[in-house]
Amino acid sequence: MKYCLKCGREVSEEDYVNGLCIDCFRKYGNPFAKQVEIRVKQCVKCGSILYKGEWVQDTLEGIIRKHILEHQHKYLISGVELVGLDPVGGIHEFSKGGFQQEWVFNMLINGKHFVQFTDSIKVFIEKTVCPRCMARASKKITAIIQVRGGKAASLRSRVEEIIRNDPGLAEAVLEIEDAPNGFDIRLIDQLPARKLAYTISRMFGGTVKETFKNVKYDARKGGWLGILTLSVRIPDVSEGSIVRYGNELWIVVKLDEKGMHLENLKSARRAFIPYDEYWGGKVVLVENYYIKGVYEVVAIDKSMVYLLNRDTGEMVETLISNIPFRIEKGDEIKIFVVDNNEYIVKNYTGGNTA
Ligand SMILES: [Zn+2]
Ligand SMILES: [Zn+2]
Repeated sequence: MKYCLKCGREVSEEDYVNGLCIDCFRKYGNPFAKQVEIRVKQCVKCGSILYKGEWVQDTLEGIIRKHILEHQHKYLISGVELVGLDPVGGIHEFSKGGFQQEWVFNMLINGKHFVQFTDSIKVFIEKTVCPRCMARASKKITAIIQVRGGKAASLRSRVEEIIRNDPGLAEAVLEIEDAPNGFDIRLIDQLPARKLAYTISRMFGGTVKETFKNVKYDARKGGWLGILTLSVRIPDVSEGSIVRYGNELWIVVKLDEKGMHLENLKSARRAFIPYDEYWGGKVVLVENYYIKGVYEVVAIDKSMVYLLNRDTGEMVETLISNIPFRIEKGDEIKIFVVDNNEYIVKNYTGGNTA
């Protein structure tokens, strides 16, 4: 039999730990053999961490947990087994590159008693650049795609998705960066750059202008090496926009690869405008308007239409002759106000896709 050094109680082998009975251990004991100190290298460019000789994309907490679980015998006294651990609160820098964080350790004593202790761990992070990022940095930019336009910035995430879903493109793209009125994509290869530029332009109704700047003559290949710049201009309009065209007001119903489908606000007449005409300045975005509301047609009689705004409960009556298209009970319409005039338009779901 063993005796507890604190309370003097006689204890069985399985309730005895490091000179104490399990109850005293919970109160006064220390399961740690030494403070956890981890040294890691982290890439400043991609954030990956060097762990066991390999650069891995994991969080710092993930690495800390893995390391402690694998090396627990080094940090814990014998008879104590670590079953799990979690960080408490944030990580604080206490010296340059030295960080400290509290962690809760869940442990089993003698395979029987569950105990919980908190300890602060230290992590020393050496900032460096991983070999992969170094290899990429040494590659030369040979093409730049400049995506520009009033709504270009809002398309960035969709463009990034196109790049992610195409391994060839993803490999060729070095970086994407915000720029005034849009964003820039820098690539190491001109062929995929051209392909991407035209894909973006096709998707959003843009135009592409190519310029090539000679950097140096390659005698071996008999041609110039240089940077290809592809300027992609994206129209400011999107589906649901109001535009002025031929001195009349229109709503943009649909944008496709060739141009924009418009519907006249007054007459509901349709028109198709190729992008050339847009870029020629014939279609002008109207920004000074508001939407009075979305209404449901609740009743129609000989001359009047009764509309209900379901959000506000507001009822509106209007002459049938004010509505330039056929309507039925149950239809949804939208009222636009442009220059103090009200226009009734079918409620195209999808609306503004920008
Ligand atoms: Zn005791
Ligand atoms: Zn890296």
